[in-house]
Amino acid sequence: MNKLVIVGTVAFDAIETPFGKTDKILGGAATYIGLSASNFNIDAAAISVVGGDFPKKYLDLLEDRGIDISGIEIVKEGKTFFWSGKYHNDMNSRDTLATELNVLEHFKPIVPENYKDSEIVMLGNLHPLVQQGVLNQMETKPKLTILDTMNFWMDIALSDLLNVIKNVDVITINDEEARQLTNEYSLVVAAKKIQEMGPQYVVIKKGEHGALLFHDENVFYAPALPLKEVFDPTGAGDTFAGGFAGYLAKTGDISFENMKNAVIYGSTLASFCVEKFGTERMVNLKSNEIHKRLQQFKDLTQFEIELT
Ligand code: AMP
Repeated sequence: MNKLVIVGTVAFDAIETPFGKTDKILGGAATYIGLSASNFNIDAAAISVVGGDFPKKYLDLLEDRGIDISGIEIVKEGKTFFWSGKYHNDMNSRDTLATELNVLEHFKPIVPENYKDSEIVMLGNLHPLVQQGVLNQMETKPKLTILDTMNFWMDIALSDLLNVIKNVDVITINDEEARQLTNEYSLVVAAKKIQEMGPQYVVIKKGEHGALLFHDENVFYAPALPLKEVFDPTGAGDTFAGGFAGYLAKTGDISFENMKNAVIYGSTLASFCVEKFGTERMVNLKSNEIHKRLQQFKDLTQFEIELT
């Protein structure tokens, strides 16, 4: 088993979908990644920052699931990062209504001493300089570094983002963002261009249309499980990343073949995330539910063709 260090936002979210609307609820990239990775019972730590307005019970949620939260700073006089989004009727696209950085604006991450030798580093969505700051503090070279980001950072901090992208092994990004980053419509061409920017492995998330993993000339595709109900897609991308990183930390095997399984785990966990608002579905997820859904995944994608 490998140690996993996670950095990302811990946030308040306000979400609107065709099915309803929430006030400020628990959200944030590190929250979803941590909850998702916690299903692998690994040694993992989350690094982030919250304000004095952040309820302790939310931090307890992560801790109760076995995530080390000593790297989550509390700025008593500050306000927690706030994001608000509204989904379109297709539930595949959304508009960001508000992004208030608040305590994130002056955040200097501190990697806890006992996680400076983590083998796997998951750089979740936040300012690219904070992501780079975490990489800089690692005392031994990680076996695998994974980066997730979004259009917001491409818009306001592109050159910092390109600098950190140079230094990672894997990038997970959604289709729209891959197109924005490369100015290419074809995802195959976009993935190639991103590989030239640094990461040897590129994962492109396509929401309800699954995920693609690119490495050299190889491509692996995993569909998303067809679900009866999609309630709220918020956090699905982060949950995917947490499942991907968590599985690789659990197995300690970072080969392309094993990354295919990591994509399947990521997709499986993301399929739960979207079933309820916010983190609701993820906080009580049980291992037998995951197991059952992995079986559904196998059934969905297995077929026998004889090639003559
Ligand atoms: P996802 O749906 O996977 O893209 O993730 C949604 C989560 O990302 C929400 O819980 C937000 O709090 C968080 N988020 C939204 N915008 C940003 C941003 N610019 N930087 C970091 N986290 C963000």
